[in-house]
Amino acid sequence: MVYINDHFLQLQTSYLFSDINRKVTAFRKENPDARIIRMGIGDVSRPLTPAVITALHQAVEEMGNADTFRGYGPEQGYEFLIERIIQHDYKSRGIELDLDEVFVNDGAKSDLGNIGDILSQNNRVAITDPVYPVYIDTNVMSGRSGTFCDGQWSDIIYLPCERDNHFVPKLPDVCPDVIYLCYPNNPTGTTLTRTELKQWVDYARNHGSLILFDSAYEAYITESEVPHSIYEIQGAKEVAIEFRSFSKTAGFTGLRCGYTVIPKALKARTKGGQEVALNPLWNRRQCTKFNGTPYIVQRAAEAVYSEQGEKETLETIKYYLTNASIVRKGLEEAGLEAYGGVNAPYIWLKTPEGMDSWKMFDRLLHECHIVCTPGVGFGPSGEGFLRLTAFGRREDTEEAIERIVRWNI
Ligand code: PLP
Repeated sequence: MVYINDHFLQLQTSYLFSDINRKVTAFRKENPDARIIRMGIGDVSRPLTPAVITALHQAVEEMGNADTFRGYGPEQGYEFLIERIIQHDYKSRGIELDLDEVFVNDGAKSDLGNIGDILSQNNRVAITDPVYPVYIDTNVMSGRSGTFCDGQWSDIIYLPCERDNHFVPKLPDVCPDVIYLCYPNNPTGTTLTRTELKQWVDYARNHGSLILFDSAYEAYITESEVPHSIYEIQGAKEVAIEFRSFSKTAGFTGLRCGYTVIPKALKARTKGGQEVALNPLWNRRQCTKFNGTPYIVQRAAEAVYSEQGEKETLETIKYYLTNASIVRKGLEEAGLEAYGGVNAPYIWLKTPEGMDSWKMFDRLLHECHIVCTPGVGFGPSGEGFLRLTAFGRREDTEEAIERIVRWNI
């Protein structure tokens, strides 16, 4: 007899995107001529930049030549990329990292999910609410969530991020072992300042907690008080793992590359109370279960850091941030309340008083022909909000906003 991991049966089916699609399909059927603009997707629309494409072509050529062909690479990633990552993303901000503290992967989602492999099932997990659903579901899969009741998991500590606390989570009353923080945030598009993040680092240091810091949207930071890396905060190397991605930074959503930083100073305990460094555990896990990111993809990621690559990448980021600013200004002009969009490609729109997320979604679809994502789909504290993304094409973004400004809500 074969037994399954029963925890998988506890997973809640996410109806969010299927419900959105069902509503859009029904609307399209009734209104075949309507030009629908999609502002719900979290995927990019700009192509890879010329520097990246050139690097890909060159790497492909190398793979076709016996003298330059590469087979299995280092599981942790090639040094040529790790050196660039350390130099450009950390050293430039005064953060020193060794080569073996950076692990290249096939995108942040994999490691955000896999990191649980090296952590005890008994850890108590805290998440901000609303949240990127991967953090919750991967903990459900590994049995850390408890049972699902009234829209919440019994063993997960929810840290509400609402208008009233300016979307800054309060330090928890019950002490978590593992704390997921994502800044700039998906879905709210909001950030923590250096002072606010320091409170979390200090909390983790005082309580022996581990922070899993997801900074997939780091490239969108424009304000100086917002830290780009958690390691800008003193002492963070002893309590935090950082996850980064080339997906939204350089359009790698389809190419797949990211990296995880696990400082050697970071330790956790065995059941018996002995301190163990997480870096070698993760290295062991990767060497056993992962055979490395493709060579050509790592060459493409390396090109993001070239002079030309950096210039082009910045242009793309500016393009999305300009979209975000068009959305923010337009919504405000329409008398709506919106957050985010300054250091992130997401805008968190408050629904008018008395209107819930789905009601506003329906009205936007039927009256403006715009598709967004209902905030409640990201967790209970997302009720009363919608997420709009700035990843669309400029002309679509402008048109969508013109429609909203003209809209008689
Ligand atoms: N983290 C957050 C907060 C995200 O929104 C996403 C993707 O949407 C990811 C991680 C995953 O990114 P990747 O494409 O690198 O797997």
